[in-house]
Amino acid sequence: MKARFSYKSRFLLSKPFIFSFPMSSLDIVDFSNNYFSATMHNTTAKNNCFDYVFIGLGASNCLILLSIIKNNIMVDKKIAIIDSNNKKDNDKTYCFWIDNGADMHQDLKHLISYTYEFAKIDNGIAQNISTQPYYCIKSIDLYNAVLQQIAQNNIPFIISTVDQIEEIAPHYKLITNTDTFFANQIFDSRPPSLNLTKKSDIFLHQSFYGLHIKLINNKLPVDVFNMMNFDVEQNEYTQFVYTLPYAENEALVEFTRFGVDKMDINYGKKILHQYIQQNYGNYEVIAEEIGCIPMTTIHTEKSPFKGIIHTGARANLIKPSTGYGFKNMYNFAERITHSLKKNPTNTLHQLHLNSKFRFKLYDHLLLIILFKWPYWGKTIFQSLFKNQSVKTVFLFLDEKTNLLDEIKIFAKLPILPFIKALVIYMSQFISKNQLITVLLCSFYLMLQSFIPQFATLFGNSTMIIGMLLIGLPHGAVDHLLMKNPSFKLIDFLIKYVLIMCVYFVLWQILPGLSLFIFIIYAAFHFGESELEEMNTVIAPYIHLIASFLIGIAILLFIIFTHLNESIGVITNINGLYFVKNYTLFLNAYQLPIIIVAASIYLLLFVYLKKINSFLLIILLIGIKMPLLFSFGAYFIGQHSAVAWKHISSKLNIQHWALFKKAMPFTIGAVLVFMFIVYSANYLQPAPLEQFYPHFFIFLACISLPHIILMHSFYKKYHYN
Ligand SMILES: Cc1cc2nc3c(=O)[nH]c(=O)nc-3n(C[C@H](O)[C@H](O)[C@H](O)COP(=O)(O)OP(=O)(O)OC[C@H]3O[C@@H](n4cnc5c(N)ncnc54)[C@H](O)[C@@H]3O)c2cc1C
Repeated sequence: MKARFSYKSRFLLSKPFIFSFPMSSLDIVDFSNNYFSATMHNTTAKNNCFDYVFIGLGASNCLILLSIIKNNIMVDKKIAIIDSNNKKDNDKTYCFWIDNGADMHQDLKHLISYTYEFAKIDNGIAQNISTQPYYCIKSIDLYNAVLQQIAQNNIPFIISTVDQIEEIAPHYKLITNTDTFFANQIFDSRPPSLNLTKKSDIFLHQSFYGLHIKLINNKLPVDVFNMMNFDVEQNEYTQFVYTLPYAENEALVEFTRFGVDKMDINYGKKILHQYIQQNYGNYEVIAEEIGCIPMTTIHTEKSPFKGIIHTGARANLIKPSTGYGFKNMYNFAERITHSLKKNPTNTLHQLHLNSKFRFKLYDHLLLIILFKWPYWGKTIFQSLFKNQSVKTVFLFLDEKTNLLDEIKIFAKLPILPFIKALVIYMSQFISKNQLITVLLCSFYLMLQSFIPQFATLFGNSTMIIGMLLIGLPHGAVDHLLMKNPSFKLIDFLIKYVLIMCVYFVLWQILPGLSLFIFIIYAAFHFGESELEEMNTVIAPYIHLIASFLIGIAILLFIIFTHLNESIGVITNINGLYFVKNYTLFLNAYQLPIIIVAASIYLLLFVYLKKINSFLLIILLIGIKMPLLFSFGAYFIGQHSAVAWKHISSKLNIQHWALFKKAMPFTIGAVLVFMFIVYSANYLQPAPLEQFYPHFFIFLACISLPHIILMHSFYKKYHYN
């Protein structure tokens, strides 16, 4: 790699901002391609313009620089490296495991200080890992190697802190504490700001206090490293000691904590001293290593700018559950050079290392456990290594195992904390009531397959309890929805009951029209609460249309996935028997209508850019259940629960208080229903199923005034 200016010395680092070449030589920089013409008004600006600027000379950018130099790309490009630190200290030890002879091993072997062909966990026997040894590179050796290479390639190393990057399309302006620079493309390895914005995010520290020691009396096997020794107090965290022998009488021994709180250095010193004394006897300290790696589910977004490429920790390359990232950074560097070779003006900023969803999930679950129940850490890691070989664990951490391997691994771990963590993880996508609904439906389906005689009993009882706990109460607080100073409960009730009665009479006279009206307003009402739940801000008229479309899609989906049952219920309603004549016709259109309903629903999600995954799950599970339970699961588990939540939060009334306020009207509704069933049974005794039509009409009647009130309620709170 050659730049078009001369480079004199690579360590002119005493001043805060130093170009490592004489300024006069910059005048020969050729800007014949005329880039930056907008910003380059004087020589100084010209001197500070680069094709590529690397912010940070840490692990990630070092590996990228080594890779591009090795591959002879970016030749004739003007490159600069800016770091706030002069990189003269051995601040880290980078360890990783890799197949013997793999490219990474070949490329970095000149930097490797130590190789371990045996790994020990706790006080177990040393396992042979010679096909995939564990290697250590001292960070200073990496920095020096890169500094040497960039010196040979005339790349300036600027000691300065980048405070801000501004886009001056199509270039970027880097404002540092000492100067301003311009770049075409930036490789940015500044540590990301990890802010907990999502409730579900976890942030832990992997903090450690390490000592490079010389043993006075004892000796160590030099090719065995101890990855995790838990013979230290846990103190409500996950704590262990990691030992890397450097020589028979020399080692790096680190006391590590996974925890919400960083380790206090004095505490670390004390525990480590006790551990070393107990295990290795007297010692001398050669050096200290103190560090902290974030273990987090917080995902740093890719750079939105074409010319800014996030690297290292900023590119999410550190594995959340282990803190290892060096190997990922090597692979990322290879991807970058590969991409640059193919097309230098490509979309490098979009590059990322793929991690399969299930591995992200495992990491997340472990972090939840370490966050919520840190005392589980020791047991989990010990049983992991007790039941699996180190090689298998390495493979798993490299995300190269298959699902079957992973099932075998998890089967031998304590399952309880993982189940609890999974429930917590799921609760970010679905609420408690949604989870309960899914569990109840799954349980019903299980009963249906194995003990069908109990399934209907379970389904009916669950429906009754659900209706009493949430289905009816969500409509029994209507009197609270539109309260104003002139509100009189008695007037309200009279109007409410009057609407119900008129509609009930209509059902008796014109059942077909009543059914049609019911489907239209129920669809609108269901859709309205779904939209509210999605918290979408759209124009009022689109809101009306979208509400109706979502609701009709839900209803059609439920009805047509249970077509014959639906026809059965409808034809049992007095005056609607004629619908039976259309059975063949409706059956012919069953599949297309299901597809249309599902498509309307999915297209609306695409349009609104939001998806309600629980709704999809519940509708799909419902296919396997009878109509009543399928509708009940949606009506109670989703619709009523969601509406209840809206009422409770918008009126600022706690659930229990709201439930108590709903109680008189819930009881009233139950009494009315019992009266209808009793009268119908008195007139014409029949089995329970025969009452479904009555239940249906009853629901339709009490829904009409409720829907009118809920619409005004949503309108009031949504747009005001
Ligand atoms: C103590 C420690 C030990 C680790 N050990 C291992 C290990 O054994 N194996 C493993 O796989 N991973 C390990 N990691 C995790 C990970 O590999 C390292 O954190 C790695 O250094 C991350 O690389 P990076 O390039 O993202 O950041 P860094 O290596 O930290 O580099 C960032 C660079 O940017 C510079 N910088 C920051 N802000 C600015 C600014 N505003 N302007 C200019 N320059 C700036 C810094 O001075 C630094 O040189 C370890 C991490 C730590 C902290």
